[in-house]
Amino acid sequence: MLRKVLIANRGEIALRVVRACRELDVRSVAVYSDADAHAPHVREADEAVHIGPSPSSESYLKGDVIIAAALTAGADAIHPGYGFLSEREWFARAVRDAGLVWIGPPAEAIAALGSKTAARTLAVAHDVPIVPGTTQALSSSEEAVAVATTFGFPVLLKAAAGGGGKGMRVVRSAAEMAGAWDAARRESQNAFGDDAVYIEKYIEGPRHVEIQVLADQYGTVISLGERECSVQRRHQKMIEEAPSIAVDPALRKRMGEAAVRAARAAGYVNAGTCEFLLDRDGAFYFLEMNTRIQVEHPVTELVTGIDLVQWQIRVASGERLPFAADIAPRGWAMECRLTSEDPVNGFLPSTGRIEYLHVPSGPGVRWDGGIETGSVVGLHYDPMLAKLIVWGTTRDQAVERMARALRELIVDGIETSREFHLRVMEDAEFRAGAIDIQWLERRLPSLLAVPAGEEELRDAAVAAALIAAGDRNGSSARGVAAAPAPAESPWEALARRQGLRRR
Ligand code: ADP
Repeated sequence: MLRKVLIANRGEIALRVVRACRELDVRSVAVYSDADAHAPHVREADEAVHIGPSPSSESYLKGDVIIAAALTAGADAIHPGYGFLSEREWFARAVRDAGLVWIGPPAEAIAALGSKTAARTLAVAHDVPIVPGTTQALSSSEEAVAVATTFGFPVLLKAAAGGGGKGMRVVRSAAEMAGAWDAARRESQNAFGDDAVYIEKYIEGPRHVEIQVLADQYGTVISLGERECSVQRRHQKMIEEAPSIAVDPALRKRMGEAAVRAARAAGYVNAGTCEFLLDRDGAFYFLEMNTRIQVEHPVTELVTGIDLVQWQIRVASGERLPFAADIAPRGWAMECRLTSEDPVNGFLPSTGRIEYLHVPSGPGVRWDGGIETGSVVGLHYDPMLAKLIVWGTTRDQAVERMARALRELIVDGIETSREFHLRVMEDAEFRAGAIDIQWLERRLPSLLAVPAGEEELRDAAVAAALIAAGDRNGSSARGVAAAPAPAESPWEALARRQGLRRR
């Protein structure tokens, strides 16, 4: 077993890895920027090393500084978490070249799967169905129009190096192509330093269903079933669950086999995720493989009973996977990504000090967070503050439990997405499982409208409207929960907001 792991990340995932290390009796080393000097992951780890100023380009993205920190601390491995350097082939290679163990897939597998076009080529060669489109980058917007015409509009322009929904543009007609082409290339160049763009058919109304795989160093590759991640805004996941209401055991088996084929073809080791679009007829199409632990891994942990982060460490230590066959899910798990964004105000980022945090608990509730009372939320990093995850014996119970947990949650001092998640849990379509990847964008306006019959909320909305009307920017009416009544003391404001929140 590894003895000491440096965690090249921050926030909730750094803390998650610290916890896995502790349960395995492995020492942990945190790294931190100026902004994170007092962060929980720094305190909870056995040791911590300062790696630079607050911007991630000067700290969490500094591979050489991180490797030097690991060597100085006497760590024998690096866990990259997700984001930051986790899917950078050069970093995985540099870690290995420094004589350290990389807790992730081999650099060669990252290379084979890192570019979407390369991954599509690999999928086709191994009988894994892909979304119709090109497997090569295109050279001009004219070529893109010619290709799009053969598939038929709408199409999706995608960055080959893409991630996080960046460099992606829906194009509904030939006339829109030139503008979208320039925008996708520019965005991709800025985000990934690579402007290669290719085309996929834009599929209307599919679900995003992904398969968790786990592979050891001895050729055992297993599927741990699916996660449903269709509740998305701007191609970004907001709520995930396992299993998927749209997947039966036969489909689970077929999708699992396809994911395992893709992983084997790439020489995959460690935890990874094969993302698919699933259409209404049960046909599925490979999107990409994520070569790291995913944000939404806990829902799989809760329905399989397998600690994925511990197994990442154990596999990297050279252990064999002891699981005989693919594992069937037990019960239902759901996750909400709590972000520092104000849903009633166009998901505007919110910053400030968390004055008070009350974390939900009770039966079936798990909180993977990186914040506490007193944490200061700035704009340097991703807005995700924490993940609230629940387990129930049925989907209905999981939804009820999530709603209950969201009502218990109090985050004061900044705006969060809590209210948004609560409204999704109360939504009839969501409860019926009638979701696809475009569902949220369609449903958002009515979800965020003030529910009829809610006296308190209506009163607050009226107050907000009055305040907005008296404001220079009358058009940008502030959101319901955010609207302070005039001449209200901080205690009154707090009590009113808790009253609103604890419906
Ligand atoms: P990224 O790596 O940037 O996250 P993905 O390829 O994983 O990009 O796609 C992100 C999301 O965009 C998917 O979950 C899905 O909602 C949407 N999407 C991707 N490809 C298509 C497509 N061909 N048709 C429709 N929606 C798509």
